[in-house]
Amino acid sequence: MTSQTSSDCLFCKIVAGEIPGDRVAESERSIAFRDIKPAAPVHVLVVPRRHEPTVGALAAASDVDLADVFRLAAQVADQEGVPDAYRMIVNTGSAAGQTVFHAHVHVLAGVAFTEGRMV
Ligand code: 5GP
Ligand code: ZN
Repeated sequence: MTSQTSSDCLFCKIVAGEIPGDRVAESERSIAFRDIKPAAPVHVLVVPRRHEPTVGALAAASDVDLADVFRLAAQVADQEGVPDAYRMIVNTGSAAGQTVFHAHVHVLAGVAFTEGRMV
């Protein structure tokens, strides 16, 4: 799906303000809100306002939107006081744990990450 919004998409509804999201930052092209089920003390989702199902699809559709998501994610890490101690995670496909098919980046921090151990 490459339409700019999707009527049955959870994150499009949060972008539109139709369902609540605990917003921590936003830009003209992206928004950031806290994950409803945090996996770490800092767990923020950064999503483009435009609907694309995956980050790969977003990259194919718009360099500008892709860059904006990552720029806002870095801004969130600054705001949360972890500018040099966070991970960005992007799940792609249900087999990799993607459950919401609107492109998003997880910003995670506040846990002890183990060097050399990705998963
Ligand atoms: P995924 O598994 O697709 O990479 O990430 C989807 C994330 O969205 C999950 O971490 C899940 O906890 C979060 N999530 C699901 N529903 C909601 C919701 O209604 N509000 C918020 N803020 N996060 C949600
Ligand atoms: Zn969407």
